[in-house]
This record gives sequence, structure tokens and C-alpha cells, in this order.
Amino acid sequence: MKILFLGTGAADWPSVKKQGAEHRRFSAALINGELLIDFSAQLKDSLDEYNIPMEQIKYALNTHKHRDHYSEKTLAELNAAGAQYLQFAAGDEKQVGGYRIYAYAGNHGTCKDTLHYIISDGKKSLFYGLDGAWLMYEEVEGIKTHKPDFAVLDATVGFVDGDYRIFEHNNLNMILEIKKSLAPYVGRFCISHMARTLHSDHKELSKQMEAHDITVAYDGLEIVI
Ligand SMILES: [Zn+2]
Ligand SMILES: [Zn+2]
Repeated sequence: MKILFLGTGAADWPSVKKQGAEHRRFSAALINGELLIDFSAQLKDSLDEYNIPMEQIKYALNTHKHRDHYSEKTLAELNAAGAQYLQFAAGDEKQVGGYRIYAYAGNHGTCKDTLHYIISDGKKSLFYGLDGAWLMYEEVEGIKTHKPDFAVLDATVGFVDGDYRIFEHNNLNMILEIKKSLAPYVGRFCISHMARTLHSDHKELSKQMEAHDITVAYDGLEIVI
């Protein structure tokens, strides 16, 4: 399974781009070049940068309708380019083409019906958990059952202490706790959805996370699992 990160930021990034890994677009990821997770208004810019024609996208999944994950206009463009919008509710399990997809409720109170996914392509599997704080019981059970090879977690809050957002997003201490508890069930942990105002730069964050064997996603990162 190939995972390309098209956007790894939270909602607080300005549209003026910085160079390389120091700039993060609104969150999106592309699986095997054809299954898209989330489509904000910044999707097209990202597809252009990585030379991906929109027509290549077969399926589009959405985690929730915050503007850093969802744009109605972008969805219409995806539909016009031939993508199939896959709609799920918490608890659903569906086979779509070569993919088995499981949807779980995420703990992201400012947006009702937020979903996290486990996606298997028959060979490898991915847990994608943006946005949300901690993990809900059902998704923990899902992770224990399906043992994803790769897990992408919401790391919005950085190491900031006492931030009010920890009830709907993780800070890095929460990520470390989650990793310790779920290490037997997950091949590798990765963080994404970093808030600009709550994180150090990518280089510094990568160094901090390297000590914990956690991948820090950046726009353009491609992982093969
Ligand atoms: Zn978000
Ligand atoms: Zn959100």
C-alpha cells in the first residue's frame, strides 16, 4: 500500500506557502494513487504540485466537514472528474473495489459525525484518525482486531500544556501514551494534522519524534507499507 500525504496541517495555516516541509496544507492523503481521504479547497494545489491528475482518483472518503478536510466545491470537481464519493456512518464496514473499509466514530466534538477509518487493500492496512482526541473504545477494538500496518494520528496540539483543544485533538503526550498502549497492534505510528501555532518547525518535531520511533508526516511524503 502506498500512502501519499497531500496535506498535513490543521486549519490555522495561511495560504501563502513556505518552502518544503515547513508548509502544511489542509489535511488529505491518497492511497495507492486512487483512494482519497479528505478534499479541502487546497486539494487541487497539492495534486498539481505532485503531478496527479484529478481523473486518477477513483474514490473519495471524508472524515468530517470542517473546512480543512472538506469543500463542497472540491467534491463537485472530484465527481466531475469521475471519482465516486464513498459515504459511511460509524460502524459501517464495506467492500469498495479492492478495499475493505471500516468506519468508526472519532472524538471530535466540534464536528458531529467525524469518522476514522481502517482501510485494507487486501495486503496491508491503514488506520487514519484525523481529527480526534484519544481514541474511542470501538476504534481501539477495531485496531486490536485488524492490526493496521500503519496508523496516522491527529497531533494538532504539539507539546503545549493546558491547551483547551485536547478535548477534540491530541497533544504529543497523548500520542506517546496511545502508542505505548497500542504498540502490539500497530506496525508503525505516524502523526499528521499539526497546528502551525502549536508546533515547532518540521525539523525540530521530526527530531523529537525520532526518539519515539514515530514518523512525522509532511506534504509530499510518500510511504510504502
Ligand atoms: Zn482538521
Ligand atoms: Zn476538525
